[in-house]
Amino acid sequence: MRNTLVIGNWKMNKTLEEAVELVVRLKEKATDFPPSAEVVLAPPALYLASIAMLEEPWHKLAAQNCSHHDYGAFTGEISAPMLKSMAVDYCIIGHSERRTYFHETDALLAAKVDACLRNGIQPVFCCGEQLKQRKEREHFVTVLNQLQQGLFHLTPAQLSDVVIAYEPVWAIGTGQTASPEEANEMHTFIRQQLSSHFGEVAANDLRILYGGSVSAGNAASLLACSDIDGALVGGASLHVRDFAAIIGAAS
Ligand code: PEP
Repeated sequence: MRNTLVIGNWKMNKTLEEAVELVVRLKEKATDFPPSAEVVLAPPALYLASIAMLEEPWHKLAAQNCSHHDYGAFTGEISAPMLKSMAVDYCIIGHSERRTYFHETDALLAAKVDACLRNGIQPVFCCGEQLKQRKEREHFVTVLNQLQQGLFHLTPAQLSDVVIAYEPVWAIGTGQTASPEEANEMHTFIRQQLSSHFGEVAANDLRILYGGSVSAGNAASLLACSDIDGALVGGASLHVRDFAAIIGAAS
């Protein structure tokens, strides 16, 4: 049984004061969250320690990125052991913004997945096609290639600590969402491919999140789909009422 996972990716938004206020105001709504939903906040790395210190049992923490090295002379980087020491459970890996703006390659992302796993952090591995690729019916092959490059070197046991987020690039931050049918079709495809490579048990246990303009208005129809196990939420996670409504839809 896969429990629903909702992750709020705050990206590079909010001052510390605003970030703490968001957590405090979400806490006021937390008694209404479905008990089966797992809620994870991914604030800017700078705020992870402050938010961890609030010790709120209704949510876990994710980082938005990490180094593929564990330690060393890598100025400006944050490692998986550092994240682990701050009670971080998840780390987003391969978000399209990092693939595009920071030129993160498939090989680098595979190394980041490994860094997370060897340090007890669950990678949330992002994949998804560009609009042009969907229009040219290349979306399945694009996503399969990302999975092969980033994850297929793992063992089935390692895969059980991975979460996948399918995020069509054309839907991120655009207000344009994949329809529940389009999203579920891709999630089913991803699960089939994982099943062929890692076996049915590993594939059935793995959670596949949808991300791309998830909102209070569309969350219920997306989360009702058979192969959609949660959401990776960007913009809407910055607003208490919207994010609480999305979590509320995750029953
Ligand atoms: C994201 O950043 O992962 C995301 C899906 O953003 P948004 O919800 O704003 O489209």
